[in-house]
Amino acid sequence: MRARRLLATLAWLIVLLKGVVASSPPIVLQPARVFDGTAETSHEGWVVVVNGDRIEAVGPAHRINTPADAQVVELPELTLLPGLIDAHTHVLLHPYHEASWNDQVLKEPLALRVCRATNHLRSDLLSGFTTIRDLGTEGAGYADVGLKQAVEQGIIPGPRMLIATRAIVATGSYAPKGYAPEWTIPQGAEEADGVDALIRVVRDQIGRGADWIKVYADAAMGGGPIRPSFSLEELKLIVETARSSGIMVAAHASSREGMRRASLAGVATIEHGYGGDPEIFRLMRECAVALCPTLAASEISVAENQGWRVGSEPIPEPLGRLRTLFQQAREAGVTIVNGSDIGVFAHGDGARELELMVAFGMTPVEALRSATTVAARVLRLDDRLGALKPGMLADLIAVEGDPTQSISSLRRVRMVMKGGVFFRRP
Ligand SMILES: [Zn+2]
Repeated sequence: MRARRLLATLAWLIVLLKGVVASSPPIVLQPARVFDGTAETSHEGWVVVVNGDRIEAVGPAHRINTPADAQVVELPELTLLPGLIDAHTHVLLHPYHEASWNDQVLKEPLALRVCRATNHLRSDLLSGFTTIRDLGTEGAGYADVGLKQAVEQGIIPGPRMLIATRAIVATGSYAPKGYAPEWTIPQGAEEADGVDALIRVVRDQIGRGADWIKVYADAAMGGGPIRPSFSLEELKLIVETARSSGIMVAAHASSREGMRRASLAGVATIEHGYGGDPEIFRLMRECAVALCPTLAASEISVAENQGWRVGSEPIPEPLGRLRTLFQQAREAGVTIVNGSDIGVFAHGDGARELELMVAFGMTPVEALRSATTVAARVLRLDDRLGALKPGMLADLIAVEGDPTQSISSLRRVRMVMKGGVFFRRP
C-alpha cells in the first residue's frame, strides 16, 4: 500500500516537472531582418517567436503578439534565416590533403574516424547547417547509425542526420586501387550485383538504419575512364526495392550514361553530374531528378593547387567546364539542391558550395533556397524544415549582414538554434 502511494506521488512529481519544462517561456528573436526561405528578399523589422521546439509566429514586429512571459533575444544587425541543409556530406571523411582516401579507409581505426566525426558534426552545426544528408561512411561500416543516435540523444552536438550507411557499389568498382589482384582489399562501400544480392543489400542497409540508399551508378572500372557500373535493370531494381520500404535513392553519377540510367531508373537525386549535357539535364527534369552539383569538392583542389579564389577571372579548368554544366542544368530547369561533398574539404566550410553557386550564376536568394526550402522539399522534410512558418521545427540561424545581398554573410554565423535549443548563442 505504502509503495503504491509512493508511486502515485512520484507520478505526480513527473507530471509537475513536465509542466515546468513545457511552460519554459517562449523566445522572441528580434533580428534586423528575416529571410523566411521562400520570399524574394529579406524582411526588415520582422520577428520570430519560438515555443518549445517549434516556430509559433513569424512576421512584422507590430503584428505579432509577444507573449508577456517571453524571453526576448535581440539580434541587432543580424539576419535570421532557416537552418541550412547540406544534402551531400561525409562526416566520416576529412580532407584528402590530410590523408588520402585510401589511407582513411584502410589505415584509420574506426574509433579514430568516429572521434573525428564528432568534431565534424559540431563544426557543421556551428557553421549554420542544422540538417545534413550524409551519403556513405566510406569504409566505416554503420558508424553513421550510432553518430545519428548520439546527436538525437543529445550526447554530442550536430545537425539532424539522414544517413545512407555503407552505400552500394558494383563489384570491382570502388575498392581502394593499386593493390596486387591476389589480395582482397577492404571496400569503401558494399558490393552487390544482380537481382538477389541487390535486393538483399538494399533491404539489409535499410534494416540497419539507412534513411536513403546511395548507389554508385558509375566508376573508373579497372582504372579506365568513368563508365556505368550497374545496368539500367539493376538500378531500377534498387529503386523499386527501396521505394517499397518508403526509401529514396541517391545516385553518384559522373558519366553521361551513368546519369542517363540513373534518371530512367527513378532515383531522386544525382550526385556530381559532371558528365551532363543539355539533353541529359532535360531528361533529369522530365524524370524529376534533382542535382547535387558538389561544386566545392572539385573547386578545392583547384584552389589549393592554383591559388584560385571564388569570383576571380579567368576561371581555370576543370572549373570552367563545371560552370558551363551548372548553367546548362539550370537552363534545363533541373532542381538544384545544395550538396557539397563536405569532408572532401574541411567540415565547417559548408558556405563554400553556396558561394560557388552564386559565382556560377545563381542569385544569392536562389542559392539560399537550394539550401533551405528546395533541399527540404527534395529530402521530403518540407512539412517541418526549410522555411520559417508557424508549426515548423525551430531550426534557425543568424548571420552578420544580409545573405540575400551577399552570400558570404553565411561565413559569419552568430547564432544557431536547432529544435528550439541554442547551440550557438548570439
Ligand atoms: Zn560524396
